[in-house]
Amino acid sequence: MDINKDWFINKINLFLKNDARNKLSKLDGSYIFEPNVLVGIADGNDIIYTNYKEIIGDFHLTPSEAYEWHCKKNNIEFNNKNLSVIAYILPINQDTKIENSNYSEKMPSERWAHTRLFGEQVNRDIQKFLIEELKKFGIYAFAPALDEKLFNVNRSIWASNWSHRHNCFAAGLGSFGLSDGFINPRGKAMRCGSFIIDLKLPTDSLNRPSDPYEFCTNCGECISRCPAKAISFGKRHDKIICAQHVGSSVPFIKKNYGIDIYGCGLCQVGVACSNGIPNK
Ligand code: SF4
Ligand code: SF4
Repeated sequence: MDINKDWFINKINLFLKNDARNKLSKLDGSYIFEPNVLVGIADGNDIIYTNYKEIIGDFHLTPSEAYEWHCKKNNIEFNNKNLSVIAYILPINQDTKIENSNYSEKMPSERWAHTRLFGEQVNRDIQKFLIEELKKFGIYAFAPALDEKLFNVNRSIWASNWSHRHNCFAAGLGSFGLSDGFINPRGKAMRCGSFIIDLKLPTDSLNRPSDPYEFCTNCGECISRCPAKAISFGKRHDKIICAQHVGSSVPFIKKNYGIDIYGCGLCQVGVACSNGIPNK
């Protein structure tokens, strides 16, 4: 069996279809993510990863740095010449998007909050599952975001040292939007993931637009959707104001939905780019 993009698409879609973890089991049992994943591949030595050191910050890991760290820790011989990055988009259930769009102008809906908590667990479990599946073929893979000793988020600027969205951009899956969300053919309302594989695969970098905001129409709909006024044409997305608002949702979610998580995503629903790439 060849390991290629279709192999990843099939594996992830089967997981999303059949695994009980991808169900809103405390609600109506429907899918958290639609089994309609989008997968892209970046060369692990793509120049964009060096550029990310300038764009995001020196702390952002190149695939080579992350994989070298992993190899040292596990006594694996390190060689970076065949590294690829697999990036994927998990589309949020349409009913969840509609509910979050209609529920409130301030706080997330119940389905959205459950998706934030249990969907992120699914996202992590998909990475673990694929790494184990690849092992059966003798192929090493490593998910930096799953290693607590390596992965971190700089909370003064709200940036992590392994950005799934930037990996999606590197892998030609879409572009950023005014609100910092990632606009792609499945829509901005999604969760995404990425990991490193020690296998040379054809890259999708040719699909990458030269403008990182290529697919954003600047329609401004996300500006009016944001209850915290964290989005503007001048300053784009203010991560600090956004984080304060998102953090303030914890007591509301606990009291009303009985789960311990934060959430918002109001700028991802009911806007032109929620379900796909908007028309310019
Ligand atoms: S809602 Fe409009 S302005 Fe905001 S990210 Fe989407 S396309 Fe861009
Ligand atoms: S997540 Fe919420 S607070 Fe943050 S930018 Fe979007 S709408 Fe505003």
